[in-house]
Amino acid sequence: MRYSQILLPTLKEIPADAEVVSHRLLLRAGCIRKLTAGVYTYLPYGLAALRRVDQIVREEMNRAGAQELLMPMVQPADLWRETGRYEKYGPELLRFRDRHDRESCLGPTHEEVITDLVRREVRSYRDLPLNLYQIQTKFRDEIRPRFGLMRGREFVMKDAYSFDADDEQASRSYQLMYDTYQRIFHRCGLEFRAVEADSGTIGGSFSHEFMVLAKTGEDTIVFCTACEYAANVEKATVRPPKARVRPLEEEAELDLEKVETPGRRKVEAVCEFLEIKPRQLVKTMVYLADGLPVAVLVRGDREVQEVKLKNLLGVVDVELAADQQVYDATGVPTGYLGPVGITIRVVADQEVAAMRNFVVGANEKNYHLRNVNLGRDFAVEAVADLRQITTEDFCPVCGGALGLAEGIEVGHIFKLGTVYSEAMQALFQDSDGLEKPLVMGCYGIGVSRIVAAAIEQNHDENGIIFPIPLAPYQAVVLNLSLKDAEITGAAEALYEELRAAGLDILLDDRDERPGFKFKDADLLGIPFRITVGKRFLKDGIVELRHRRDGLTEELDPAQVIVRVRELVSAALNQE
Ligand code: ATP
Ligand code: MG
Repeated sequence: MRYSQILLPTLKEIPADAEVVSHRLLLRAGCIRKLTAGVYTYLPYGLAALRRVDQIVREEMNRAGAQELLMPMVQPADLWRETGRYEKYGPELLRFRDRHDRESCLGPTHEEVITDLVRREVRSYRDLPLNLYQIQTKFRDEIRPRFGLMRGREFVMKDAYSFDADDEQASRSYQLMYDTYQRIFHRCGLEFRAVEADSGTIGGSFSHEFMVLAKTGEDTIVFCTACEYAANVEKATVRPPKARVRPLEEEAELDLEKVETPGRRKVEAVCEFLEIKPRQLVKTMVYLADGLPVAVLVRGDREVQEVKLKNLLGVVDVELAADQQVYDATGVPTGYLGPVGITIRVVADQEVAAMRNFVVGANEKNYHLRNVNLGRDFAVEAVADLRQITTEDFCPVCGGALGLAEGIEVGHIFKLGTVYSEAMQALFQDSDGLEKPLVMGCYGIGVSRIVAAAIEQNHDENGIIFPIPLAPYQAVVLNLSLKDAEITGAAEALYEELRAAGLDILLDDRDERPGFKFKDADLLGIPFRITVGKRFLKDGIVELRHRRDGLTEELDPAQVIVRVRELVSAALNQE
């Protein structure tokens, strides 16, 4: 492609409203433009990167025996009612009515549509196993669309669904997708990790997320330094504390005592005033669970893990209550809330059940209670693992030390079992002649998010550094002097020959200064830059520069073609 002809509007200034680097660079490198919140147009250069990803995804899915189809984006509400998700999915599901007043929604995911198709078309165990996938635009009315392609409202997803006769076959299908995902992200040139994950509102029992490791990741993953264990912190189980470890006499329950703590509302202030450690205090946090208040008890130095809370309560949404909401629900000003005599629902982290003689708010301004004990002084509705794991905890599998890392979720695979097939009566006839529900799995990849994640992981102060497999063009040829016929002739010939060698090449044939072209080449992140300038006139030499490490090589045009081909095919065939 000739730069003079492509719509590739690069920006010199840094876009003000873009918070993360991939968003800034996608805008600056002319990849995307915003239409409205969380909704973007892919310009030719951005679309080319997106196409690289979906090509890799398609090849690997096909290799695994999955079949591509394409399902509708507009879906009838009645189908979603069959699984109860029309009500349960929450406001991320964009609902509307058509001209005949039929309730509809825009597909955020396609379990209902695919299950409907398969229950009509698949009858026998002979048709199984079956894996169907599509690469399609999804719509989710995200509460906080942000970070450009990372969390859009409209985005491109690959979603696949497997159908099997029994659990064993379904496990094989799951494993095949797990392996396929490993190949896909590896081929994309990304540094990633597969982690155990929460299975969320989609239902089902077992899942893994694939995380691209990058500092700006919205997810935190915990990994063991001694074994293979890795999990999303939303899911990572905290080992239950050994109950009441100290000798019994020290552990005797002391008399409850009300103490004045004037103006001390924060954990640190209360602890300083009472000369205790945060580990001797229990915080009472109020959450709104689908709008209703619930008090959650955790040790003073711990944090509530909201996904664990959500799962325990079986609700769609939990949100920390604001001060006024806490007051409205309990009549207690912030900072003095506690479980003794509280009137709303209370649940406790497992660690609280193992504590003795701790401090809590007294449900009265300027007072706390000392020597409080669960059971004697108050009761809770449930005791569960509700806190966020930390690096002070130990691996739930082997007891080894833990580390934390930030990640961007680019893929998610689930074992669904028969949740959907039972709800929607998707049955097949097994070899024994009996009708059984299909055993399902579902497998998502954020195709557009991968483009953003690749940039988060691969960039420098000058711009994008595309991994070679995802680069829209593998090399850019810079013609540094349009006025010079010899230079122009050599640049044009190189462009044609590189293309004839099967490469995707950008020829910068714009009438611009060299510095300007160098800057754009860096910003665009094209892996190899070939400069044809004065050195060519003098010695017949062109310069090959590697975008990633700045390495330069001086070669003649014939050598440069061989070299670039070598470098590109080495990167593409690396497996
Ligand atoms: P998240 O926790 O990031 O909201 P999710 O659990 O809702 O993700 P899935 O329903 O598993 O995501 O969707 C499959 C894949 O689609 C995700 O792994 C992610 O890569 C991608 N994805 C999900 N939501 C978005 C979004 N709003 N914008 C871009 N990609 C997304
Ligand atoms: Mg989501």
